[in-house]
Order: sequence, then structure tokens, then C-alpha cells
Amino acid sequence: MINFRRVLALVATLVVGALVVTATPLSSSARTGDESSIDARCVGHRPIPAAAMTRGAAAPACSLVGRVVTDGRVAVRVPPPGMSVAGEGVGRHGESRSLQVTNTGTTVRAVSNAGATSTTQRGTAERRASLPACKDRTFHLEHHRWATRLRYRINLAHRPKGFVGKTVIGQIRAANANMRKGRNTCGRPRLKTPLSSYLGRTAVRPNVRPGKSSVSCGKANTKNVVGFGNLPGGLLGWTCYWWFANGRMGAADIMIDTGSNLKTHLPKPCRNKWDFEGVVTHEWGHAYGMAHTGAGHANLTMQHALSPCSKYARTLGLGDWLGMNHMYGHFRR
Ligand SMILES: [Zn+2]
Repeated sequence: MINFRRVLALVATLVVGALVVTATPLSSSARTGDESSIDARCVGHRPIPAAAMTRGAAAPACSLVGRVVTDGRVAVRVPPPGMSVAGEGVGRHGESRSLQVTNTGTTVRAVSNAGATSTTQRGTAERRASLPACKDRTFHLEHHRWATRLRYRINLAHRPKGFVGKTVIGQIRAANANMRKGRNTCGRPRLKTPLSSYLGRTAVRPNVRPGKSSVSCGKANTKNVVGFGNLPGGLLGWTCYWWFANGRMGAADIMIDTGSNLKTHLPKPCRNKWDFEGVVTHEWGHAYGMAHTGAGHANLTMQHALSPCSKYARTLGLGDWLGMNHMYGHFRR
């Protein structure tokens, strides 16, 4: 994290430098105004449609950093030069949304995947139609990973009604270990993923901004926070993450839906309730560099839609384990 801060400080210096250079030719009226007049020129206010940036947009010195890029359902802010950001969620209805924006320093490029990948079968039927967890080798990677310890905090505000703080913290920590260590029932050994540290509770909100019909990722920072919020539509969880051009992950924030669809203990009988620890395990997968499998892999933790009334997502399927192993390797037995 020290390295990350140093890089961020350097980036901040560069951006400030650029602001000064760009500010110089401004008219005297703009210069006599407060800093917001410079911001208005450099940063602008209106969101940029992601579709306008799929081929890359030139990034003049200060103009695009911090600007909102949106595809209507997902929004992110253009990160500092040399960084990328992505927002990705998991839903109840088989919807898959994601938006990624990369700032190379000279170009800003957006990749949007807002296409819903619905499946006709749901829950138990869908899982029966898919390969068993230990036979399904499917995985996709985001192509960036942690090189250092992931230090995170938990914000318990806005947690679902009836959620006990101690249980929530216990399950979020367990979910982190499920993904990081590659917990599985397929006989595969423990993964070598860098350690994580739970630093305690925080009042800082996750760097995720839920709206009525869309979700935004905030400006890049160095804090990793897991918390709750009122996610739109059928979303159960959302992860925003930031990484550097060299493939090293910089930060990740997870927001879990505050509604009544998630349970720390599934009821009996159970109908349309999702396992909290399983959903958080999936979100930690994104934070560690895993992408969605696509439809037809309903027994894997990293499918875009999770089945209700089962704790299966707490343990990784073979594909989930292979993906994490590809990035981090495993201990020999
Ligand atoms: Zn997901």
C-alpha cells in the first residue's frame, strides 16, 4: 500500500502540474474566478457516454480525469493516468453489467458490457443443467491481481434488517478466506494468494454510489471498504476496483444490497433468498481479479447470477479454483 500511495502522490503531482499549465492561457476573468472555474473547463460536468469512448478518446492534460463515463446503467470516473477502473455486479435475474475505463495518459478508453445474459432456467434446475462444480473448468480473468496484502475495513451502516453485526463481519471475513485460499470440495490445495488483513470497522462508505437505476464507482482512492447500500434492480452485490498499467491491483470496494433478498442464515422453507456469505465470496472474486464465467456454469461461484436458497457459492468450483490458481498459484501438499 505504501508503494500505491507513492504512485498516487506522483500521479496527483502530475495532474496538478497539468492543471497549472492548462490554467495559464485562461482569460483573466477565468483566472480571477475561484478554482471551480478552472474545474469547469478542465473537468466539465456532464457524463460522457461510454459508447463515445469505445475507440478511445484523446485525453488532453487535465480534461478527462474525474469525469463520469456512463453507459446508462453503470458509471465510473476516469482514473488518473496509468490507471484503470471497473464496476461489476451480480444479480438475481441473470443480469450482468460491467463497465471498464482505462486512462493510458494519452488515451481514455471505455469497454461496456451491459448486455443481459439471461438463462431460461433458474435455481436448482439451472444448476442441474450445468456441469457439477468439480467438473466445470471454466474461468475468465480480469488480468490484474494483488501483489501485496489486501487491507480492508467493514462499514456496517445500512445493513439489511435483522443482520447481526458480529455475524456480518464473520461472514465477510470468511468469504474473503473462501476466495483467497480457494476453499473447495474438489480436493484442490490451498492457494498462495497474498494475505489479507481486516483492519476493523469504519464509517467510510464503500467507494460505490448506487443510484435509482445505475451504479457508479467513485474517484480512485487507497481504501478498501466492504459495506451496504440500496443497489438498483435485481443487484445483490457490486464491486468497483482500480488497477495499474502493470497489472497490479490498487484498490477494491464492495457494496452489498441492503434489501431483504440476502440472509446470513437461509430460512426453512426457503424461497428467493440468497446466501450472504456466498454473494460476498463472489464479490471478493472480482476484487481478486476474477471475471464472470458467462451463462451455463451455475455451479461455479463466478457465474454472473447466483442461485437462491443454497450455500454452494461459499466453496469454489473447479473453474473458480483454476482461475485463482492461474493468478496466484498454490501450496504443494
Ligand atoms: Zn459478479
